[in-house]
Amino acid sequence: LVGDQRVDKSVDSVCPYCGVGCLLIYKVKDNKIVAVEGRDGPANQGRLCVKGRFGFDYAHHAQRLTKPLIRKAGVPKDPNSTARPGDWRAVFREATWDEALEAAAGGLKHLRDTHGKKALAGFGSAKGSNEEAYLFQKLVRTGFGSNNVDHCTRLCHASSVAALLEGVGSGAVSNPVNDVEHAAFVLVIGSNPTSNHPVAATWMKNAAARGTQIVLADPRRTDLHRHAWRSLQFKADTDVALLNAMLHVVIEEGLTDADFIARRVDNFEALRAQVQLTTPEAMSPICGITPETIREVARAYATSPASMILWGMGVSQHTHGTDNVRCLIALASITGQIGRPGTGLHPLRGQNNVQGASDAGLIPMMYPNYQRVNTPEVHDWFEAFWNTELDDQPGLTVVEILHKAKAPASDPQKIWGMYVMGENPAMSDPDLNHAREGLASLQHLVVQDLFMTETAWLADVVLPASAWPEKTGTVTNTDRMVQMGRRALDLPGEAKPDLWIIQELAKRLGLAWNYAGEESGVAAVYEEMRQAMHGVIAGVSWERLEREDSVTYPCLSAEDPGQPIVFTEHFATADGRVQLVPAGFKPAAELPDTDYPFVLITGRQLEHWHTGSMTRRSQVLDAVEPHPTVSLNGSELARLGVPAGGVVTVRSRRGTVALHARRDDGMPPGTVFIPFAYAEAAANLLTNPALDPFGKIPEFKYCAVAVSAGGDL
Ligand code: SF4
Repeated sequence: LVGDQRVDKSVDSVCPYCGVGCLLIYKVKDNKIVAVEGRDGPANQGRLCVKGRFGFDYAHHAQRLTKPLIRKAGVPKDPNSTARPGDWRAVFREATWDEALEAAAGGLKHLRDTHGKKALAGFGSAKGSNEEAYLFQKLVRTGFGSNNVDHCTRLCHASSVAALLEGVGSGAVSNPVNDVEHAAFVLVIGSNPTSNHPVAATWMKNAAARGTQIVLADPRRTDLHRHAWRSLQFKADTDVALLNAMLHVVIEEGLTDADFIARRVDNFEALRAQVQLTTPEAMSPICGITPETIREVARAYATSPASMILWGMGVSQHTHGTDNVRCLIALASITGQIGRPGTGLHPLRGQNNVQGASDAGLIPMMYPNYQRVNTPEVHDWFEAFWNTELDDQPGLTVVEILHKAKAPASDPQKIWGMYVMGENPAMSDPDLNHAREGLASLQHLVVQDLFMTETAWLADVVLPASAWPEKTGTVTNTDRMVQMGRRALDLPGEAKPDLWIIQELAKRLGLAWNYAGEESGVAAVYEEMRQAMHGVIAGVSWERLEREDSVTYPCLSAEDPGQPIVFTEHFATADGRVQLVPAGFKPAAELPDTDYPFVLITGRQLEHWHTGSMTRRSQVLDAVEPHPTVSLNGSELARLGVPAGGVVTVRSRRGTVALHARRDDGMPPGTVFIPFAYAEAAANLLTNPALDPFGKIPEFKYCAVAVSAGGDL
């Protein structure tokens, strides 16, 4: 439809789904998107996956919230109601914006003034813009008065960020995804990019076709296997055993880069001591990969002219996710496979703006640009910058906040009220029965969203918000590219831009903000954020983004083209050197036993995005994948006596779901996979809330379940 006279306008924007950050064009007719085309963006070069191309009509869905809602007096909050949503009119009444904003802010203010500044918490969103993330965390820090602010990075790559900040001094990637074209060897571990980062996967497939050795390391044999030089289908949760065996081979066989270690790496001797006994023979029974294959892959990684590592949540979502990433950092560092084209470390970020939301300070322990809230000079700088008193202690994280929502009134950390913008913790958190009870027990919950999400059902006030194509703002992709999205649509009914809603709440909480300008002052908010993140985006002005659309940080001046590859000379640590942290193998928090003999892995699938609030309301995507399924190996289906497509029940110590079985012989026997996008069989009813002690990320990739034939759908 490019140049087609049948459309009213073509608007340049960014895909609202994954962290690849594909640039696209919305083709608009009569205030409706009628088609989407890929643009020649640096991350996609015209490519789009099925979500980017067809997942746009959620914005026009009949279930869009178009008026503010207030819970009717006397209607109880039933945590089970989220599982069987009916007509919201039985629970809520429509309200004017003035009434709803007064109720929303008034309830939060009352709890803050009654129970103290730590009584409140906020969940922002990685689906929103950088400006929304920045303003949301500023609202919590300056209006609520604490650092109890977080978002879904906690459920995604928090452990990767913890390890990277500790090891190399920066939580972002060292090289962009499409740098795989310069790599001779690529390790893809704990990631299913053809489903979760599909356009990124195309660069990997192109590289494989040109002769790059792709090694896919994952408990599931996923689609990239077809393009891989070697597939290491290791036992779930044994990443550290596999990686320590590779580290052992590299050191034992003298394949390290001694010069790089001497110049740029600290703590190598401690690593050597840690992996002295982790021989491939010793680790093979734990990880399930033969010693010969471990040796072959370790040698190939260490000796190739350029080796790159990319990983996903198969690495991060464990109670030892930080240890997993520490091993990856060690592997890249001792071989000198970082700081050059085609090398480095790349955690494939999940949502389209999870990198940017984290950069903007939407995390409880850090202000914008990962500046720690408990570092006195940083704390003082932000007190002066925001002209207010700030808490100097890190706040609670996502899972901790919902846990504290159920705490007794005597607990000084009890959370009494929350503001949730664009997140859906009643679907995304582990052990959902517990999480939903936490949300239901809040005295005041404000939810700002597009739809009556599972979380919104438990709200006191629901504020109808803006979909991505309805606003202008920036997002930052997995490659550290800050990219401009532009408004293509008018808002439906009385729905409002999120940036406007945050500012209206701030006003009612007593904050004197003034962000003048079009689109709720988005440019002014960005420019303030740029000052707070001067160390990385000083050269990325709003005006430059309007002109160039995409600029990679670090970018420190107007003339700086941006730095796609970092750590070329030194790392971002205090002494400029990698800080190695050796890690030993630890088992998962909950292991299979006779009552719960299977391992459950949860994750995403190609057509559906996270909790499904958008993609399940996109006609094409939901038509392709309309029902929740559990994937099992054919041998397990035969043992259960269930045909493919038959119904099975999956139980854990925390919950039960019934759903259709899908045969997938890429699943190892004894292991099942359930996507977490489906409310009618919510995978997170089953998952274990045990946390990684450093990243505070739950163990979504491993818990014990029982599987039986039959069940009530
Ligand atoms: Fe959107 Fe990611 Fe697909 Fe690109 S790969 S179109 S960013 S979902």
